[in-house]
Amino acid sequence: MEILVCISVVPDTTSKIKFKDDSTKFDDNGVTYIINPFDEFCLTKAIFIKENSGANITVLNIGESKNDPILRKALAIGADKAVRIDSSSSNSLTVAKQIAKFVSERNFDFIFCGKESIDYNGGKVPGYIAAILNLPFANACIGMEINGETIITKNEIDNGTQICESPKPLVIAGQKGLVEEKELRIPTMRGIMMARSKPLEVIGVENDTSNQHVLTSFELPEGKKECKMIDSENVSELVNLLKNEAKVL
Ligand SMILES: Cc1cc2nc3c(=O)[nH]c(=O)nc-3n(C[C@H](O)[C@H](O)[C@H](O)COP(=O)(O)OP(=O)(O)OC[C@H]3O[C@@H](n4cnc5c(N)ncnc54)[C@H](O)[C@@H]3O)c2cc1C
Repeated sequence: MEILVCISVVPDTTSKIKFKDDSTKFDDNGVTYIINPFDEFCLTKAIFIKENSGANITVLNIGESKNDPILRKALAIGADKAVRIDSSSSNSLTVAKQIAKFVSERNFDFIFCGKESIDYNGGKVPGYIAAILNLPFANACIGMEINGETIITKNEIDNGTQICESPKPLVIAGQKGLVEEKELRIPTMRGIMMARSKPLEVIGVENDTSNQHVLTSFELPEGKKECKMIDSENVSELVNLLKNEAKVL
């Protein structure tokens, strides 16, 4: 079995988000980068499949060379091979087209992506890949079983779950539930040593700038307003503030 896990490299969740150049660019000064957490669930699920049924796991990132340590981490966790398509990853559709082209030139049984990146939160890349390649798509996947040639996925929908049966290959946009948080694999010392000799292939591409929208500026969310304390007995003041200040009544 051949499994592809797409890895998005995102700022650590504890990073302080700032913008520069008149709020047109993300300021990554002092920011630590990590594997997108949704991709970690996918990578661990791929490792479970490998351990149960045998598989080769390739991890793929569209990005610049500063992402290589993150790909090495994925290799240390248990992937067999890493590929980086050397591109600035400047737009979800371009990223999806590059992944789709890579997939179309190889044979994968499963294409795992996270359900969304935690930086730009587009939630677009996996759906685009499935659409471009005309493949079945399990979105917001919280469970997956292999039953011979049929893949059964459990997917989160508004107020419930749906169970789907699909043939291979399929695109899976995974999240927590595919595996549990306590099952996530972390690199061991042996894994880190082995990762050094695993292949990390870099593929050069010409950046496709057609069909892109351009990020013109960012805005941070409004800061939290000052908290007003009132006496618990003073219901009329509470009603007054909710009505006239917060304007929620
Ligand atoms: C320097 C820089 C400039 C940018 N400029 C623009 C811009 O001008 N316009 C714009 O629209 N966006 C821009 N972006 C955003 C960037 O293109 C998106 O973060 C990226 O394409 C992923 O899109 P998404 O958030 O929709 O991913 P999602 O669809 O939320 O990601 C879901 C999953 O898809 C996979 N995936 C996503 N991205 C990658 C990747 N790069 N490699 C491998 N797998 C991936 C992962 O499995 C991820 O969990 C910029 C980003 C950077 C770093």
